[in-house]
Amino acid sequence: MQIHRTTKPLVESIEKIKKEDKSIGFVPTMGCLHEGHLSLIRKACKDTDWVVASIFVNPIQFGPKEDFKKYPRDFKRDIELCRINGVDGVFMPQTKSIYEKGFSSFVNVENITDRLCGESRPGHFRGVTTVVTKLFNIVQPDIAYFGQKDAQQAIVIKKMVEELSMPVKIEVAPIVREKDGLAMSSRNAYLTKNERKKALTLYRSLQMAKTLFKKGERDSRAIIHAMRQLIHAEPGIKIEYISIVDTQELSFVRRISGEVLVAVAVWIGKTRLIDNAILETRKVRKERG
Ligand code: AMP
Repeated sequence: MQIHRTTKPLVESIEKIKKEDKSIGFVPTMGCLHEGHLSLIRKACKDTDWVVASIFVNPIQFGPKEDFKKYPRDFKRDIELCRINGVDGVFMPQTKSIYEKGFSSFVNVENITDRLCGESRPGHFRGVTTVVTKLFNIVQPDIAYFGQKDAQQAIVIKKMVEELSMPVKIEVAPIVREKDGLAMSSRNAYLTKNERKKALTLYRSLQMAKTLFKKGERDSRAIIHAMRQLIHAEPGIKIEYISIVDTQELSFVRRISGEVLVAVAVWIGKTRLIDNAILETRKVRKERG
């Protein structure tokens, strides 16, 4: 497995691979890898000939008061996990080799990045789309893999790729959860034992949304109200948002039909957690005649 800390040798390897007509899969991460990340890596290994995983805690997607400095890092373990899971090239650049002195070029997807997480994290998605664009240009992947865990991020990236005609296919893989249902996240490491227990409420609230929906509830506000009540019953959780939106523009949907995203963000102590679920009304198939 190759390990690159600077851009040039990685680009040279990629050029060689491309000449051999091999397909390239790419999994961008911020490291501290868990089964969620590894599911993307394994999928990439199945689908493509040469897999690059990047490990880069991207400073420009963190707000000034956010957890950039204390974000969990374990590069040694990450490299080992990449090796075991079949990665061909790890890219773990230093900040200065991604953002050279005087860096001033940014990529921004408008409107949908102001909603949901964008409301409390201004500039976050601009940081994500900028680094992802730069990484795409370096790695030149045929397919790039993202997790449904960060549903808004996946939607933003897809929109950017489509609108800017970027020559890459975006695959979005399902949320990987702990046995009890908590969505895996590097930030779960921040939780105390007691907070970890509380965190399960997030998953439970989404399960409740699904149950209500299955029973026929189509009024978003009723579902959100029930979710709020369930979360409020657990002391020590602050709801940032609960929203039911369409999966294209992320606009609030009052009455559910077709496919919608139920997205939740909460604070448990000093830790911000997000999770989501998709609700879909059955498509009525036209009988073939
Ligand atoms: P991160 O390191 O948090 O930036 O995540 C890197 C990629 O892994 C993103 O595309 C995430 O959506 C994805 N990811 C993170 N957690 C999970 C999870 N529990 N299940 C599936 N994908 C995930």
